[in-house]
Amino acid sequence: MSQVLIAEDNAGIAAFVAKGLRSAGYAPVVVGTAREAWEHAQTGEFDLLILDIGLPDADGFSVLRRLREARNSMPVIVLTARSSVTDTVAALEGGADDYMPKPFRFEELLARVRLRLRAEGAGGAEATVLMVGDVSLDLRTRRARVAGKEVDLSAREFALAEMFLRNPDQVLSREQLLSRVWGMDFDPGSNVVDVYVRYLRKKLGADVVETVRGMGYRLPTNGSGE
Ligand code: CA
Repeated sequence: MSQVLIAEDNAGIAAFVAKGLRSAGYAPVVVGTAREAWEHAQTGEFDLLILDIGLPDADGFSVLRRLREARNSMPVIVLTARSSVTDTVAALEGGADDYMPKPFRFEELLARVRLRLRAEGAGGAEATVLMVGDVSLDLRTRRARVAGKEVDLSAREFALAEMFLRNPDQVLSREQLLSRVWGMDFDPGSNVVDVYVRYLRKKLGADVVETVRGMGYRLPTNGSGE
């Protein structure tokens, strides 16, 4: 049974995550401070750390930094504030394996937890690469490639591409994409999704993402890059 350490001082969120993980078959332990997070993470008893950035004694970044400095490579999923792109970027640059903008649905977090634990089990780097057709995303280094050539994606473009590659052939509605990539549970009436799909097509290839009229977008597994 995988042991998951949750460092989160908000008791409501911590309980919600712990309860969900327990019913998904994991053994969660909750701590509420950066000091405890560091102490527990160091023991080597945990398979994964879910790390909040806003902890009362020190921020989550300091825990992440210390872990990586100590060459502790346990997978870390950072909980970031929805609005803070800076935090997200800092988390990934600081060695986080993934991030989860708050507020989130438990299923979204669970999918990330599963993926991280699976990647570890499979022995690292290879398993963190998503690939469909010519497009590949390295989730660890946050690098994208098309037919082996590196392509520069912004953090948001990468997150959107990741959604498509994780759900090949599925139609994803604007609402789903807004919710999972931008963390908005309402449509602010902007065309932000359409704009970013355009960016992705420009960077990854025009036929990488299909428009499904009246429904949303889809990444087809055949035809891309052919
Ligand atoms: Ca907090």
